[in-house]
Amino acid sequence: MRLWLIGLVAGLALATAPGASGAYTVEPTLTRVAGVETRCYKPGTWERGDEFGGYWDGTVIALRANACRWIGRTLAGERPADWRRTIVAFSWHLFAHEVAHSQGFDHGEKTVGADCRGWRIMRPLMRAAEISRGYAYVLWVSSAHRASCPSSAP
Ligand SMILES: [Zn+2]
Repeated sequence: MRLWLIGLVAGLALATAPGASGAYTVEPTLTRVAGVETRCYKPGTWERGDEFGGYWDGTVIALRANACRWIGRTLAGERPADWRRTIVAFSWHLFAHEVAHSQGFDHGEKTVGADCRGWRIMRPLMRAAEISRGYAYVLWVSSAHRASCPSSAP
């Protein structure tokens, strides 16, 4: 191809790449427990809508800053008991959802959906991150939409 065309195609690929083009850090604990590189993007570097907190691009898991912040607080030992617990729980479930994608689970078209799979692997992931069994259970309950995923119930 001519150079300008290659440039155009490369530019389109960048423009449609999901999520972030900005700065990130590789989160070591999440990377270890996921078994794939897990990136935490810096605040303000996320380009997708607010409700879209993470993605699996086939190689790495990317999480937006807010989810990483709450997960990081858990790893640092914070154990909020109020409304923050729900946000923490959703952040861990988001991470588990992306790990499920990295394991080959789609959104339920052909496999158990990544949400369901996420609830199933959430506690083992948290345990691998050295979160106590009791608190991992608390977060799992706080995040679990069991009505939409009955088989993940205890
Ligand atoms: Zn998904």
